[in-house]
Amino acid sequence: MLSVVPSPVVVRAPAKINLHLGVGDLRADGYHELETVFHAVSLTDEVRITPADTRTITVTGPSGAHDRALDSVPLDSTNLAWKAVDALRAHVGGDHGEVAVSIAKGIPVAGGMAGGSADAAAVLAGLVRLWRLDVGRDELSGIAAGLGSDVPFSLQGGTALGTGRGERLTRVLSRGTFHWVIAVAAGELSTPAVYRELDTLRAAERSEPIRRAGTSDDVLTALAAGDARLLADALVNDLQPAALSMRPTLRRTLRAGTEAGALAGIVSGSGPTCVFLCADADHAVRVAAELSGEGVARAVRTATGPVPGARVVDEQTGG
Ligand code: ATP
Repeated sequence: MLSVVPSPVVVRAPAKINLHLGVGDLRADGYHELETVFHAVSLTDEVRITPADTRTITVTGPSGAHDRALDSVPLDSTNLAWKAVDALRAHVGGDHGEVAVSIAKGIPVAGGMAGGSADAAAVLAGLVRLWRLDVGRDELSGIAAGLGSDVPFSLQGGTALGTGRGERLTRVLSRGTFHWVIAVAAGELSTPAVYRELDTLRAAERSEPIRRAGTSDDVLTALAAGDARLLADALVNDLQPAALSMRPTLRRTLRAGTEAGALAGIVSGSGPTCVFLCADADHAVRVAAELSGEGVARAVRTATGPVPGARVVDEQTGG
């Protein structure tokens, strides 16, 4: 009997940085109104989806090895990748069978870089290919938004203005490539806990004013000009005071980055990852080397942005 080995689909999905993260007031539905500029960077998760008899999720480090930092990633129905399979199946109906999902994590877990959202986006893009579905971009983006506020951007990639919970996206003009150094912190910060901390800080604001980001116009102008120095001056994250209040050692990380010569440093989303903007690729390598020597981060990487959203990878060519 001829046995056919099911062929996997491999999808690469990027981490995100928020170049501008303006957090408005708490809405009645428990979310905050956001104005944010998302920027996809070349730190990626690689997700392999293979037809299988039963659903499984496995998670490894980028080289396929186990890593203790991954222990908190659930391998059951609470994993966003698992939820993405269910959401797409519920949307399209039909009997497509089960899949084994294996995730090689290059994006820090609970690091404020939307790693879970990247995996969910990867699964959506991968299953469209595997199941040969005719699902349009907007339709897929709607399913993505049901999974999480950052998932539509993880699908789309590039640079985009996000409003609402962050799920309503408008592409923005961005010229050239920006060069980043990523300082991966030990441990995690829970996104809901960081938002709660911000609410607490704002409630006690009379003693110490908490800056609000205002509009994203300065970031959009810098992106359109492709000017890293202008962008460095415009970076702002309303969640940063809350992340620093919960993890005071991040102040040292931010200081070390600017002392190492970065144009600017900022906490990524809800943290604890810190990102540093550099003038060019050589500059990023120098800053990364110096920052590594300071011992203020679990790992230091360089990355560029913008990069595309979740994309099926041709395994032969690797791209
Ligand atoms: P957010 O997107 O909420 O800002 P984050 O980027 O800080 O989150 P994630 O890496 O997405 O962090 O993980 C947040 C939590 O989500 C983890 O602690 C983990 O328990 C859970 N989680 C569920 N699915 C995944 C996944 N595929 N990868 C990583 N974490 C996941």
